[in-house]
Amino acid sequence: MEISLLASGSKGNSIAVRKNGHTLLIDAGLSGKELSKRLRQVVIDENSIRALLISHDHSDHIKGAGVACRKFNIPLFITKSSYNAVKKRLGKIDKLNFFQNGYPFQFNKLLIEPFAVPHDSHASSCFRINDTETGRSLAILTDLGYPTRLTIEKIKYVSTLILESNHDMNKLINSSYPWSLKQRIKSKRGHLSNTQASKLMKRIIHDELENIILAHLSEENNEPELAYKAMEKVLTESKAKCNLLVADQYKPTGIIKV
Ligand SMILES: [Zn+2]
Ligand SMILES: [Zn+2]
Repeated sequence: MEISLLASGSKGNSIAVRKNGHTLLIDAGLSGKELSKRLRQVVIDENSIRALLISHDHSDHIKGAGVACRKFNIPLFITKSSYNAVKKRLGKIDKLNFFQNGYPFQFNKLLIEPFAVPHDSHASSCFRINDTETGRSLAILTDLGYPTRLTIEKIKYVSTLILESNHDMNKLINSSYPWSLKQRIKSKRGHLSNTQASKLMKRIIHDELENIILAHLSEENNEPELAYKAMEKVLTESKAKCNLLVADQYKPTGIIKV
């Protein structure tokens, strides 16, 4: 499978996962127009899009979901509680499918394992996606306050990991954000910091890990260099040889082979 992070950050998220010419979109936190533009930039044909999968009901993940389903004429996969929370904002959805955390389902040759993570939304899912043809796997781990035991279990031995590195703790504490918002971000239902991401990586690093993509960086409370350096330190200490990159809010990553 191949992936591109079309956008990543608190202003909008979307990931394209392509397998055998079929594309699955995960989240649509961009306008329909912007989504099309990013797909063109990475040369993914809109006609190859087969479904949209939603992680949770925050607007940076669902803003363009209704439009995307109608524009690309694709089914929506979402949990029932997320759907109930955003039904009105989505508008008319013709093909609606509910999934549940803990219950894997098949999409072409991909086995999608949604699992629950602690975050301040109605229901939050992260995903492990296994390519049943090649045996390789991808985990998408963003929008969570801390990694639970289940999280660690799910992301073990993946080939590619998309990992939240939302904020630098010093920048967050000294930022102009109101204290209540700082508390929310830092909380057990908020977002992973650079330090939390590094600590998690220390626990799960293994030889087969080929790509780490740091994602969902805060523009206000982080800098790509800070996130990169924090993770690079762990990789150097562990003598790991995997690729490390930082996803961007304003432009898609290239196509990454999983
Ligand atoms: Zn988010
Ligand atoms: Zn969120």
